[in-house]
Amino acid sequence: MLIAPRLVRLVLSGAQLDVFDDDAGRHPAVASTGFDDVVLLFFPQPGSERIALPKVSADGGFERPLDTDVIFREYTVRRLDATGLVVDIVLHDVGVASDWARRAESGMFVGAVGPRVSRALPCTPKILAIGDSAALPALSRLGESLPRDAEGDIVLIDGGPGLEIPLAAPTRVNVVRVREAVDARRVLPGLDIDANRTYAWLAGESGLVTSLRSYLRNECGFARDRIQFTGYWRT
Ligand SMILES: Cc1cc2nc3c(=O)[nH]c(=O)nc-3n(C[C@H](O)[C@H](O)[C@H](O)COP(=O)(O)OP(=O)(O)OC[C@H]3O[C@@H](n4cnc5c(N)ncnc54)[C@H](O)[C@@H]3O)c2cc1C
Repeated sequence: MLIAPRLVRLVLSGAQLDVFDDDAGRHPAVASTGFDDVVLLFFPQPGSERIALPKVSADGGFERPLDTDVIFREYTVRRLDATGLVVDIVLHDVGVASDWARRAESGMFVGAVGPRVSRALPCTPKILAIGDSAALPALSRLGESLPRDAEGDIVLIDGGPGLEIPLAAPTRVNVVRVREAVDARRVLPGLDIDANRTYAWLAGESGLVTSLRSYLRNECGFARDRIQFTGYWRT
């Protein structure tokens, strides 16, 4: 389902998302508690419907190297509830996942693995979360899941038109939307950032994340352990 001109929402369902029973009782087969929980989605080779999945190794990971026909990309769990596992895919001009999502319709298959881990943010008086379009699902989930008395800033670098969906957040969390990374660097000095009270979360293009981290460390005085950062993709 297209929820914005450049954003496709997938709702995945399947028996694997159900519950299982053991001696201790009934458990959900999959859980997602963190705003940036990640699933690996496995796509068919272009022009084919066959999805190649990795072989599972004895320790529960994947046998490496992966077969060349295994194609996967990482996506944030936007929501996991009775409706299914929800993932929002940003459409790029080209790309296996983008191309697949562009023509996705009900009944098509995709492989999914995860989330394998779930990390919570530390308790912090203030949050500063900055991400580009690929981080829109995580920033959206973060805004929805912060406590009502949370303070801070969420900065979304959307990279151009086509992603205009509302981003909810508690009253004292400012949501700032900018077009390009350079605009984000311009707004940062105007934000009330106290490096000793703020925890920063950064995600997006690797070079962008590295430069934002350097800025926070060198210009704002953030300690290393007050920044969590992830490169989501590379130019
Ligand atoms: C932990 C994690 C969570 C992520 N969560 C999400 C999510 O929830 N939603 C989402 O849409 N993406 C998310 N991403 C990013 C996504 O995995 C990548 O953007 C992926 O490369 C897209 O695959 P593709 O097949 O469409 O394009 P690819 O085949 O990988 O790339 C094709 C071309 O598009 C360019 N490209 C790739 N990604 C982007 C981008 N984000 N912006 C602009 N150009 C790009 C590449 O440089 C290349 O030129 C996440 C990544 C990580 C690591």
